[in-house]
Amino acid sequence: MAHVKLHIPGPVEVSPKTFEALCRPMIGHRGQGFKDLYGKMQPQLQTLLGTKQLVYLSTSSAWGVMEGALRNLTGKRVLNCMKGAFSDKWFDVAQKCGKQAEALQVPWGSPIRAEQIDAKLATGQFDSLTLIHNETSTGTMSPLGEIAALKAKYPDVMFIVDAVSSMTAVPLGFDALGIDVLLAGTQKAFALPPGLAVFVASPAALAKAATLKDRGYYFDFVEFEKNAKENMTPSTPSIPHIYALGSKLDEFFAEGLEARYARHARTNQMLRDWVAKHGFTLFPEPEFSSKTLVCVNNGARPGSRVVDAAKLQKLVKDQGILIDGGYGKIKGTTFRISNMGDETPETIAALIAVLDKAMAQL
Ligand SMILES: *Cc1c(COP(=O)(O)O)cnc(C)c1O
Repeated sequence: MAHVKLHIPGPVEVSPKTFEALCRPMIGHRGQGFKDLYGKMQPQLQTLLGTKQLVYLSTSSAWGVMEGALRNLTGKRVLNCMKGAFSDKWFDVAQKCGKQAEALQVPWGSPIRAEQIDAKLATGQFDSLTLIHNETSTGTMSPLGEIAALKAKYPDVMFIVDAVSSMTAVPLGFDALGIDVLLAGTQKAFALPPGLAVFVASPAALAKAATLKDRGYYFDFVEFEKNAKENMTPSTPSIPHIYALGSKLDEFFAEGLEARYARHARTNQMLRDWVAKHGFTLFPEPEFSSKTLVCVNNGARPGSRVVDAAKLQKLVKDQGILIDGGYGKIKGTTFRISNMGDETPETIAALIAVLDKAMAQL
């Protein structure tokens, strides 16, 4: 079967070099070989996330840790900040975990602003909140710095932040932000295959988790901390993913993190320019548009050109590239194109040539 290159916002394209790293011989997860592997990566992960805390590796997709964070940190009531398919779903998941939860819903395509959260937290009803930094379904980035600054006013509220589609593409300094959990799955901006999540928890989060019953075992933060101190994971991890992550981290640091962030900014701007050139607009408010994908307004709101998104997707796929036809309730009235991972100005230029050709055939 001919290879179709992924430009959907996750999973993204995985390089041959990464696949090679996945295929190294298996080792025992309690042996020195594994401890050396994780131990070598730990300082790289800490630099990447801007933290002195230990960074944990979870063999799960992001949702495992997203659900786990609620089970570890919500004792009283959680405020779910909602602005798209993933952040809205976190509210459902909280309820499915038997947690008291309240929705702070803003329209899809709008960011969550600090004053909205402040007004809710001021009621004193909440001990935790969930926030998605980069809502992938709508291509909207909320202002994390402004929101995290609220932590000073509400030190006892656990700030749980999903950076699934932004971690590694934009700077995220966990300790400087002062938040309590930061997590990502590896199939988005890390450009690894799905099946691994990376996360970090604050000392306050670990202390709080230790007081909560029913946090289970597989995602118990206390277990993660205890094992990470020994360069291990609580249960048998997906060792191939961890080999691949090690290879990827070496690539990140060879490129340089600042250069990596600049590359994502550049490739994202190329896609935004393509959107404007064809008479489309962005679905989110442009100031809050994602740096890792474009969510193109294809009729979801007025003011944009409208095309047959399914037909465009097919014409692009016929040329060997997969773009996304929109997610959830904005499927078809938006479409999405990712610049996450290994994409460069050259590969995005090649993508744009394919998109232009498809537009001419519509
Ligand atoms: C993809 C995505 C998720 C879900 O990740 P899974 O790996 O499917 O668990 C959660 N949050 C955001 C922002 C995402 O983009």
